[in-house]
Amino acid sequence: MYQPPGVETSPDLAVPDLMKAWVLGDPDQLFLREKPTPIPSRAEVLVRIDAVAICATDLEIIHAGSPASIQGGPPFNKNFTPGHEYMGTVAALGPDVDEFKIGERISVEMHAGCGQCKRCRQGMYTSCLNYGKPEKGHRANGFTTDGGFAEYAVNHINTLARVPDSMSDAEATLVVTAGTSMYGLTELGGLVAGESVVVIGPGPIGLLAVAVAKALGASPVILTGTRNTMARRLIREPAHTEQYRSLISSSASSACAEAWCTTDP
Ligand SMILES: [Zn+2]
Ligand SMILES: [Zn+2]
Repeated sequence: MYQPPGVETSPDLAVPDLMKAWVLGDPDQLFLREKPTPIPSRAEVLVRIDAVAICATDLEIIHAGSPASIQGGPPFNKNFTPGHEYMGTVAALGPDVDEFKIGERISVEMHAGCGQCKRCRQGMYTSCLNYGKPEKGHRANGFTTDGGFAEYAVNHINTLARVPDSMSDAEATLVVTAGTSMYGLTELGGLVAGESVVVIGPGPIGLLAVAVAKALGASPVILTGTRNTMARRLIREPAHTEQYRSLISSSASSACAEAWCTTDP
C-alpha cells in the first residue's frame, strides 16, 4: 500500500503503489504502462486525476517533442507522460503540507518555479531560470516533468486552485486555459470594466478570452476569426443572447472572416 515516509494519506482515499500512465515512445506513439505512483515532496501534493483535456500543444509534443524537453533533450522514449490541462482530487500530502486537505477538488496549472531564482522572486516563475531542472524544484508538468495523462501526478501547492462543486470536472480542466486569457486581459492588458475588447482568433484561448472579458464587464466584446460554427455557438449560448449581433468584417488573411459583437455584459 502507498505509504511513503513523511507523506500523509487517508484510508478514505486509498492510493495504489503502481498507477496506469500513458507514456511517450517514438513520435506519435503513446503506450499505456504501469509506473510507480509518484511521491510528493515538501510543499507538494499527490493529485488523483479525475479529468484531463487534450491541448493542441499535447498533440505537438506527441508528434514533434518540442516544446517538451526531458533531461535537456527530446521527450521520446524517456518514460515521459504528457498532459498539462487536468484536474482532480488531492490524494496525499507531502511532508508538513497543511494548505490543502485530502479529498479537496482542485484544478492545476503546469508551472511551478524553483522559487529561488531572480525571475521566480519577481513572480515570473513561468520563465524560471532553473526551467527543466526538477532537482532545483522546478516543474512543468507535461513539459519537463510527468503530466496528466495518468492516474496520479505530483503538483506544487502553488499550482493548485480549489474547484467549486458547481463546476464540472470537464470544465475545471480548462481553468489554466481561462487563466491564460485572464492574464492577458487583466495583468498585461489592464482591462477596466466597461472598456471594449477585441479578441483576434477563435481558438480555445480566444473563446475563453471572450467569456472572461464578458465576466469582467468588458463591453462590447468583439471576436474576429474564421472558426464560424463553434464560435457562433459558444458566443450565443449564454443567457441574454438577444442582443448579440453579427458583423461582417474584412480580413487580410481571409475573405470570409467574420466578427461577432455583443453589447451584453
Ligand atoms: Zn495547453
Ligand atoms: Zn526559478
